[in-house]
Amino acid sequence: MKLKIKTLFRLLVVLFLISTTSFILYYPIKLIYSRIAERSNILKVFVSYVVDGDTIRVDINKSNVSVRLIGIDCPELSDPREQVYAEESLEYTKKRLLNKEVWLEFDVQRKDRYGRLLAYVWLKPPNRFNEEDVRKNMFNAQIILDGYAKVYTYPPNVKYTDFFVKFQREAIENNAGLWNDDLFKEDTSSYYIGNIKSKVLHRPTCKWGQKISKYNRVKFKTKTEAILQGFSTCRECKP
Ligand SMILES: [Zn+2]
Repeated sequence: MKLKIKTLFRLLVVLFLISTTSFILYYPIKLIYSRIAERSNILKVFVSYVVDGDTIRVDINKSNVSVRLIGIDCPELSDPREQVYAEESLEYTKKRLLNKEVWLEFDVQRKDRYGRLLAYVWLKPPNRFNEEDVRKNMFNAQIILDGYAKVYTYPPNVKYTDFFVKFQREAIENNAGLWNDDLFKEDTSSYYIGNIKSKVLHRPTCKWGQKISKYNRVKFKTKTEAILQGFSTCRECKP
């Protein structure tokens, strides 16, 4: 009888130890796993060509793939009004990315409707994925901070949107890069219409702008005001 009680007691001690250690280890392990999951979403690639400020081509397993950078939009080379700015953006990206090794991070959607990869481009392997890390080591953030791209929010790929909007505010306040040019900031429209759901800004004459329901519609006096709140410009009416 005495032996049985002793065995039972030992068993209880062992069970107690197992449950406490697993409880203590649970949170750090969970954290480590989420970091591993984040890291496995990272791909090291070589930048072989720069198409424009926000699009590059990279080598992955012997094939050459087009990559559209998430969360940003650069002026279009094909648009005569934007061409001067587009060339400056292209030069900026070329200088920093061409012929370099970088790390791509993916968000919810891996590809866009043109079959291009959608990615954040890290200049160093990301470590903490926090604001400091993004600010210091992510190209998408740096091009916004230096004023050569505007924030372009494209749900559901919004992992870093809040940082990007904050960085853009800093760029505008500092007159960084293209923000130094008034023409880049404003044009002569009297007001703009924004869709609070899609965060897209339109000219009042745009057919897409006119389709916005009254619940999602917001009016802005200036483009800067809307951009400061994270709106990006419509591809069709180009406000
Ligand atoms: Zn529009």
